[in-house]
Amino acid sequence: MEGIGATAAPRGLGRRDPVAGPRPRLPDQARRLLLLQYQSYLTEFMGCMIGAVRGDAVIVQRIAPADVNPGESTPTSVVPRQTCEDAGWANTVGMIHSHPGGQRCFYYFPGTQVATSDGHSYALQPYPVDAIMCGDRIVWIGRDLVEQQQPLGASTP
Ligand SMILES: [Zn+2]
Repeated sequence: MEGIGATAAPRGLGRRDPVAGPRPRLPDQARRLLLLQYQSYLTEFMGCMIGAVRGDAVIVQRIAPADVNPGESTPTSVVPRQTCEDAGWANTVGMIHSHPGGQRCFYYFPGTQVATSDGHSYALQPYPVDAIMCGDRIVWIGRDLVEQQQPLGASTP
């Protein structure tokens, strides 16, 4: 429950955390979908994350399939035919694609300011966040260009 109006808690009180930028929240359905697709696909898949940005949180409500030509999905790249909005998904907060094999899950080469191809393509997108599905975790980036990781934790073992 969120306080509305004058009684709302001061921002940052009690839960300041050192990580800047939007923090993703994924519902269980989205986690399961990602894990299922990840174990089923030998080529990269791509999804539209539908939700909302509230303050420092990105709240993903569901993940919908992006419109991809099967021929445009290879083990190392995936290109959508059209934007998520044009594919019929309103309120897209970002796109997510997978890296089968879990390699190169970053937007900047480690320790550098050099953008990877994913970093470049995110720069061209209108969305607040972007994510790479990397097996047991997802790697996020927001407009502050700070990478973050979130374990997917299939459900508590
Ligand atoms: Zn990629």
